[in-house]
Amino acid sequence: MKVVLENLTMKFKSPHVKGEEVTAVDHLNFEIPDGKLICLLGPSGCGKSTTLNLISGLETPTEGKIWFGDQDVTRLPPEERGVGLVFQNYALYPHLTVEQNIIFPLQNLKGDRKMTKEAMHQKAVEAAKLVQIDGLMERKPKELSGGQQQRVAIARALVKIPRVLLLDEPLSNLDARLRLQTREELRRIQRETGVTTIFVTHDQEEAMSISDQIVVMKAGKLHQAGKPQDVYDDPVNLFVAQFLGTPQINVFEGKVEQEKLWIGEEAVLDVPGRKDRQVWVGIRPEGFIPGDDGPFTCRMDRIEMMGRDVSIISSHPKMTGRCIRSIVSSDDHLPVGQEQVRFRLKPHKVFLFDRESEERV
Ligand code: ADP
Ligand code: MG
Repeated sequence: MKVVLENLTMKFKSPHVKGEEVTAVDHLNFEIPDGKLICLLGPSGCGKSTTLNLISGLETPTEGKIWFGDQDVTRLPPEERGVGLVFQNYALYPHLTVEQNIIFPLQNLKGDRKMTKEAMHQKAVEAAKLVQIDGLMERKPKELSGGQQQRVAIARALVKIPRVLLLDEPLSNLDARLRLQTREELRRIQRETGVTTIFVTHDQEEAMSISDQIVVMKAGKLHQAGKPQDVYDDPVNLFVAQFLGTPQINVFEGKVEQEKLWIGEEAVLDVPGRKDRQVWVGIRPEGFIPGDDGPFTCRMDRIEMMGRDVSIISSHPKMTGRCIRSIVSSDDHLPVGQEQVRFRLKPHKVFLFDRESEERV
């Protein structure tokens, strides 16, 4: 099911100041292709949950429309939209077994959609198999681990075969290992069922690893949408560049002058065709090549070896963060025991942003 958001806007009355409004979602335009998994990604408070609640029908927008295929669902109540919902702390019914929890959404079906006990059992088993909890059908929620409970919640969201599956930070309560494992399973289930899925997270790594597309939001607005790698490689502004990637992109004060990029007193890169201006310079950690003839001189702090990766931690008067992190190969010439490290820069790993607007230039 293709989902289209058209000028979607949600204003709440401010809980703090009388008469004031909070714009949680601000004229969002976006199309989610049929059968894809997309992530709404952004910092806490940027409007992800509100967007999801508008799509599910738990909230009604102040302005704009939501389409499921050719159907305008903007004013349709949640139960008529055919969505499956999973929240971060989706409370299972504690007194019901796993199976009873899963079939719960099927029990209220009316008219010709009403199901027999046997049919409901079949559906529950199918959904439970998908999330690999079919051996636990008679247990109560308190007899399950956190990861298993979340699988029950997912099975329950899938049992009615939703037109759209909506997941709001579904893995946040799981420990790191389980989170990794469950997200890979979610991806597998999504591929197997082909159900259009919208996944909300503030965790860029999670979003990058499972999505067909990511939608990066800030303060209710869409900043960039696209394939995860494309957004990483081609960020439209400083916010997006900083939000994606661990370690974070390194940011420096700099300027373009006579087709050279200057950081401090050094011309660190040729930038043919660029006009003179003040910029923020973003350099991805993998954009540095250490070597004694490099044009960019930084002050050495330390070298960290982490498995395959070697990180050089250094500093520079024009940097904006706490340190410069560069990830290099162990085959590179490492500045062991030196006070300075010199780098060459990989041009496609260096992004320039206007100093005022912070838009990419
Ligand atoms: P996210 O899920 O990205 O953390 P939310 O969608 O929950 O963000 O919230 C977006 C903004 O809308 C926040 O500023 C939040 O305080 C505000 N907000 C959300 N729900 C309400 C509400 N019911 N009443 C007033 N403000 C709200
Ligand atoms: Mg939220």
